[in-house]
Amino acid sequence: MELKKSKDIYNKQKSFINLSKIKVDKKDHDAQIARIKDFLYKPCKKKYVDNQNEIIKNLKNDLFEKKENKETQFKITDTIFKEIELIEDQNLLKYLLHRYRYDIYPEVLKSDAYPPYMQIEPTSICNYRCVFCFQTNKEFTDKKSGFMGHMKLETYKKAVDQCQDNIEFISLASRGEPLSNPLIGKMLEYSNGKFLNLKINTNASLLNENKIHAILSNDVRTLVFSADAADEELYSKLRVRGKLSKVLKNIELFNNIKEKKYSNAKIITRVSGVKVNEFQNFKEMENLWENLVDQVVFVDYCPWEDVYNDKKNHIKQSCSELWRRMYIWWDGKTNPCEIDFKSVLSAGNIFEKNISEIWKSQKYEDLRNKHLMQKRGLIEPCNKCVSI
Ligand code: SF4
Repeated sequence: MELKKSKDIYNKQKSFINLSKIKVDKKDHDAQIARIKDFLYKPCKKKYVDNQNEIIKNLKNDLFEKKENKETQFKITDTIFKEIELIEDQNLLKYLLHRYRYDIYPEVLKSDAYPPYMQIEPTSICNYRCVFCFQTNKEFTDKKSGFMGHMKLETYKKAVDQCQDNIEFISLASRGEPLSNPLIGKMLEYSNGKFLNLKINTNASLLNENKIHAILSNDVRTLVFSADAADEELYSKLRVRGKLSKVLKNIELFNNIKEKKYSNAKIITRVSGVKVNEFQNFKEMENLWENLVDQVVFVDYCPWEDVYNDKKNHIKQSCSELWRRMYIWWDGKTNPCEIDFKSVLSAGNIFEKNISEIWKSQKYEDLRNKHLMQKRGLIEPCNKCVSI
């Protein structure tokens, strides 16, 4: 299967193709904007720390006052709007503070004590071998390589404890299929109610009644199903070892259980595909998925599957991921990104240092500085990676 990158430089944040136009009613939109304004301007006894005061000032400017005409401004996109609709009043300001850090800090290359986003992988093991994924790399998936494993509950608890009250946007996903960890239900129980936006990315092939109840009863706010085709043949060619009919059946089961038992669950469902070539028919994708999930999106293909053997490039721009997110692998090791799936760039393990120490460590700062000084060409594998 031929995989085509659409551009020489990959910016994940700007590579989304939104198929199902998220429907935002004008009246609802205006009501939410008024709600945000009310919260930003109402007198508050709570003392904010420095960067929070600055963010509130910037939010007021970007959304309402427009006194400063900055190049990078915070906007309420339709996706953010849908999240805000589900956020309770007492959490709205907290949501905006963290969303601002996630959207703006990586753009202006600013960091504070914690990463704006944390991805925790419940496992590095996957039951699929998608053609564009590092799971096709035999050195990685070899049982003796040391890369493969399920996260223990103790490790998950440590990761959650370190993130709680510091990071509000968490994804349970990275190199493996999260639902393949037999402890996933217990993990979700432990993190229930601790984050404003807990997301799971899954191929949906292992969804069953127990896992669906675990997801719906433990405050998961976004559930992303990874799928890139609307017909069985193409699906199985891209998502090797996968069957579309099984995935559809599982998602229907999810929807039935949600409708019958959790009709008030504050969860957004999304299908997210990877655009790898011209054989994918977006119209068919939209027709198939739009009645099953709330949102349908695609991201451009980026050569993730083996960065270490790609050619060196001459990209000079900094990689925004160094300011946006951090990963915690199943064994507690942290990493700045998953393109470096063999953790060459790792700056430490959560059993040795806490995530704030790692995020602010000299090793991380050196990495950021090299990128800022246009010297990413000196760093392996950033010198072969096309992500900015
Ligand atoms: S390998 Fe380097 S440039 Fe590529 S995503 Fe990771 S940190 Fe960014």
